[in-house]
Amino acid sequence: SRVLGAVKSQTQPRTFSRGVHTVTLIPGDGIGPEISTAVMKIFEAAKVPIQWEERNVTAIKGPGGKWMIPPEAKESMDRSKIGLKGPLKTPIAAGHPSMNLLLRKTFDLYANVRPCVSIEGYKTPYTDVDLVTIRENTEGEYSGIEHVIVDGVVQSIKLITEQASRRIAEYAFEYARNNQRSSVTAVHKANIMRMSDGLFLRKCREVAENYKDVKFTEMYLDTVCLNMVQDPTQFDVLVMPNLYGDILSDLCAGLIGGLGVTPSGNIGANGVAIFESVHGTAPDIAGKDLANPTALLLSAVMMLRHMGLHADAKKIETACYDTIRDKKVLTKDLGGNSKCSEFTTEICRRV
Ligand code: NAD
Repeated sequence: SRVLGAVKSQTQPRTFSRGVHTVTLIPGDGIGPEISTAVMKIFEAAKVPIQWEERNVTAIKGPGGKWMIPPEAKESMDRSKIGLKGPLKTPIAAGHPSMNLLLRKTFDLYANVRPCVSIEGYKTPYTDVDLVTIRENTEGEYSGIEHVIVDGVVQSIKLITEQASRRIAEYAFEYARNNQRSSVTAVHKANIMRMSDGLFLRKCREVAENYKDVKFTEMYLDTVCLNMVQDPTQFDVLVMPNLYGDILSDLCAGLIGGLGVTPSGNIGANGVAIFESVHGTAPDIAGKDLANPTALLLSAVMMLRHMGLHADAKKIETACYDTIRDKKVLTKDLGGNSKCSEFTTEICRRV
């Protein structure tokens, strides 16, 4: 099977030395603390050379009433450069902005990488999905530029820049090259949004010229959706603007069994990276020892590969997949009856 998220990019000049590494752990809200504890236990059982530095990320107001992440969390991330993060709750349409967005902005985490790989032994509509979505994480419809034009009419700006389009395209091609993936598909709607998506697509085409060893294709977003549910095996690496990535990556997660098993990484321009489970805080099961820690654990596996700790990554990934394949100890969402803590103990036993 493929290596989840092993990526060496031009934009990742930082190399990790031997010895114990410090990683900033943001447990998050809802089920976040439970699944973070599970990951820490499994890492301890596997004797991974990592020292966790736990930091809470809650919304606070800084000078001038601007929302910011707590200085202790920022300071830790600035120093460690690597974070593992549980889900953070976001109030709807009022209150503080999304702390996830704020983290992305604070550390310029421009690439959201989501490998979607079928898990053997876990029944889903498809058994051989193996693709990666790479989403531009900083602009597009998520630029945060919104205003009221007149009463009853609002406008949200979709911001696309040459610089951000080029760097995400370069990231996608580098990722493909470094992970033995053969093709990159640019996903767009340049037929309708001729200027914004047109610029994005032009930059993808230009970058593709420098990567003749990787096949380049382009496809309309709607066509990708149609083809994806008919035969996901035709896709390899997909690169796209922010909003399309948000939606399409959840669709892809659905193909491999849902958000409970889907990991992700947010890669930044300054050597900073934060790995996180794709799902939210699951308030309906929080505090009940029912959560599935697989998505956060596989995000931690991506993180280990990012740090060059390949043997530790393999050991934990294998123990997790074997536990699922074995079917004896599974959480409810995976069709079993076991608690989060029992599933965790089983993985610990296998590492
Ligand atoms: P959700 O992902 O939290 O939950 C959707 C459903 O999936 C629920 O039934 C939940 O029980 C289940 N589920 C999710 N993760 C699970 C796991 N690990 N194990 C077992 N079951 C799991 O989505 P939601 O309810 O729409 O969002 C709740 C909160 O999470 C909101 O405040 C939202 O803003 C936030 N959120 C945060 C992130 C993030 O931090 N990256 C992502 C998505 C949503």
